[in-house]
Amino acid sequence: LSATKKHDVVVIGGGPGGYVAAIKAAQLGYNTACIEKRGSLGGTCLNVGCIPSKALLNNSHLYHEIKTESSKRGIDIEGEVKPNLGNLMKAKDTAVKQLTGGIEMLFKKNGVTYYKGNGSFVDEHNIKVEPIEKGVEESILEASNIIIATGSEPTPFPGIEVDQERIVDSTGALALKEIPKKLAIIGGGIIGLEMGSVWARLGSEVTIIEYQTAIGGAGMDAEVAKATQKFLKKQGLNFQLGAKVKSATRVGDEVDIEYEDAKTGEVKSIKSDVLLVAVGRRPYSAGLNAESIGIEFDQKKRIVIDSEYKTKLPHIQCIGDVTFGAMLAHKAEEEGIAAVEFIKNGHGHVNYGNIPAVMYSHPEVAWTGKNEEELKAAGIKYKTGKFPFVANSRAKTNMDTEGFVKFIADAETQRVLGVHIIGPNAGEMIAEAGLAIEYGASCEDIYRTCHAHPTLSEAFKEAAMTVFDKPINY
Ligand code: FAD
Repeated sequence: LSATKKHDVVVIGGGPGGYVAAIKAAQLGYNTACIEKRGSLGGTCLNVGCIPSKALLNNSHLYHEIKTESSKRGIDIEGEVKPNLGNLMKAKDTAVKQLTGGIEMLFKKNGVTYYKGNGSFVDEHNIKVEPIEKGVEESILEASNIIIATGSEPTPFPGIEVDQERIVDSTGALALKEIPKKLAIIGGGIIGLEMGSVWARLGSEVTIIEYQTAIGGAGMDAEVAKATQKFLKKQGLNFQLGAKVKSATRVGDEVDIEYEDAKTGEVKSIKSDVLLVAVGRRPYSAGLNAESIGIEFDQKKRIVIDSEYKTKLPHIQCIGDVTFGAMLAHKAEEEGIAAVEFIKNGHGHVNYGNIPAVMYSHPEVAWTGKNEEELKAAGIKYKTGKFPFVANSRAKTNMDTEGFVKFIADAETQRVLGVHIIGPNAGEMIAEAGLAIEYGASCEDIYRTCHAHPTLSEAFKEAAMTVFDKPINY
C-alpha cells in the first residue's frame, strides 16, 4: 500500500530546470517536493553534460598549453609532458560529485523534500514515486501544482547502435577509458565540437562529419561559424561538411563509417577507433504517463505549453528541455523561476530574445541576441562593428589573441541587437552583452562606460565604438 503525502508544489525531474524551480517554490513558502530518478540531482547538465564537459575542456586545454606553449611563455619543462587520463577523469568526477551533492544540501537548507525515484501520473493531482533505493516504500504525492522538468536525451541515429564503448553518445564520450587514435564525430554542433576539442588536444585524430555546410548549429552567426571552423582546423580537427552518413558499423575494435557527399553523391568511407554520435537531443518523458491525463505533445514529442508554462491542465506546468526552445541549462533555470512566479503572483519573465549561447572551445565562442541572417530575414536595417583581440593589450600579454568581438546594432538608433564573440573568455564577456540588450543600451552607452585596463572587455567596448565611430586602438 502506498502512503499519500501532500505537497503544494511537486517538481518532476531534478535537473537545472527542476531543482531551481523546487528551491524557488520553497523559498516562496510552498511545501515543495522534487522527484529525481537518476540517483543524484543536477540532471543532464551536472551529471553528464555542462559540468563534466567543462572539466575535461579546461584541463585538456591546460595540458595542451603546457605541452605546446610553455617554452615560449618562459617555462621550461624537463621530461615528457603526458596526459594522465585517470586523473583527468577523477578531477571531472570530483567536480560533478561536489556540485550534485551541493544541490542536495541546498534542498535541505530550503526545506525541499527530495524523493529518489521515478515519478509518474496516477491522475491529474496524484503522482506515484517508485523508489530507486531498496527498502523504501512507494509513495503517492498529492499536489496542488505540478512542474514537469524531465529534460532530454541524446537523439539516436537511425541504424547506428550506441554501445558506449566504440560507438558512443555524449555520455560515453565523457568517460572514454583510453585516448582513441582516431575519433569520428557525427554532428558539428556545439556538443560534437566541444568533445572533438577535448580529444584532439589529448592526441586523437578527430574528424567531424556534418550534414550541413556550416558548423555550430542554429543560432551561430555565419561569419562566426566560418571563423570558428578555421581555428578548429588549425587545432587539427578535420571537417567533412555536406556529408550524409549512410551507416556506421562496429567491426572488432574499429568502426566503419560510410557517408555520401551531399553535392556529388560520391560515397566515401572512413575507419575510426571510436565514433561519437552527436546529432542533437530530444525531449524525454518516458515513464511519466503524461499522456494518460491528457497532456499534449507536439510532433517532436515536446510537451505543449502556453506563455505561462501551463500545459492543457493549468495546474501542471512544464519547463526546460522537454518543452519548446533552446536546450540550455540557463534557459531551463530561468523558466523554473518564472513558472513558480506564475504560481505565486500570476506573472513571470524570460526574454527568449536574449538567451546567451556559449561554445567552450579555445578560444570560446559566445553570442546573444540576433545574428545577421535573422535580421536580414526580418528586414531590419542594422550596422555591424568588429574589434579583433590581436589589438587588445590583455590578449597580447596573455598570448591569446585569436578572435574578435562583433556588434550588430540598429542602423538608426545604434541599439544593440546582437553580440557575437570569438575569443578568450567570450563566455564570461557575453554577460555584458546580455545586460546591454536587456536594458536597451546603445553602442554609445557601452562605449561611454569606463572599462578597466588592461582587460579583454576593452575589446568589447571598442567593438561597440566601431559601430558609430573609429576605434582608438585599431
Ligand atoms: P535535465 O537536465 O535533462 O534533467 C531532467 C532530469 O529529470 C534528469 O535528471 C532525469 O533523470 C529526471 N527525470 C526524467 N524523468 C523523470 C521521472 N519520470 N521521474 C523522476 N525523474 C525524472 N547547456 C548549457 O547551458 N551549457 C553547457 O555548457 C552545456 N553543455 C552540455 C554538454 C553536454 C555533453 C550535454 C549532453 C548537454 C549540455 N548542455 C549544456 C545542455 C543542458 O545539459 C540541458 O539543457 C539541461 O540539463 C536541461 O535541463 P532540464 O532541467 O530541462 O533537464
